[in-house]
Amino acid sequence: MATTTALLLFSGGQDSTVCLSWALERFDRVETLGFDYGQRHRIELEARKDVLSRLTSIKPEWAGRLADDHEIQLTELGRISETALTRDAEIVMTSSGLPSTFVPGRNIIFLTYAAAVAYRRGITSLIGGMCETDYSGYPDCRKMTLDSLAQTLSLGMDQTFTIETPLMFTSKAATWKLAHELGSEALVELIIEYTHTCYLGDRSKRHAWGYGCGVCPACELRAKGYEEWRADVN
Ligand code: ZN
Repeated sequence: MATTTALLLFSGGQDSTVCLSWALERFDRVETLGFDYGQRHRIELEARKDVLSRLTSIKPEWAGRLADDHEIQLTELGRISETALTRDAEIVMTSSGLPSTFVPGRNIIFLTYAAAVAYRRGITSLIGGMCETDYSGYPDCRKMTLDSLAQTLSLGMDQTFTIETPLMFTSKAATWKLAHELGSEALVELIIEYTHTCYLGDRSKRHAWGYGCGVCPACELRAKGYEEWRADVN
């Protein structure tokens, strides 16, 4: 049987860590890809290395499947996008109906780079943690955008790419539940201690659900999901 390989967008956050665990259960090899785009929460670039080095301790079989990690410099994206994620500005709702953390086209750019890396490495399965449930309304997280992008990338590179998004219709509470199913309490603990979600890059406060400012939209979603999941299992 042929070896199955996937390339996964891995930011070092909760969602992409759960996606990576999900992929390690399904593929023979999983390569990971991260981007330095001048994000304010640059600490997430350190978090991704911490998570990668610890994840294989959760299940011995994952160690043989977790393959190369790639990091791409896209700092120009941060410079041109002028958002609250890439400069020191307040996180507010803008007149477009989107929060000021929206980096225009970010996922389209990330997945296009991912496809270019995948093409050279003979990989056709791309995986991302995008989600349109309990999300910030980013239009490039929607399934319709990503289905259309998969079609464009396949046409543009004359090779069939699939974009899998295992969390697309998963609530934040269900994401914690899935983490527990995939790697029991050890994976939940790893997510709490080492993944990074807070938009402000704050790791000075440790909550039950992990580190973060506790008030930015990313922290609020993570905390709410955690509390709902814990309430549900107890
Ligand atoms: Zn925060």
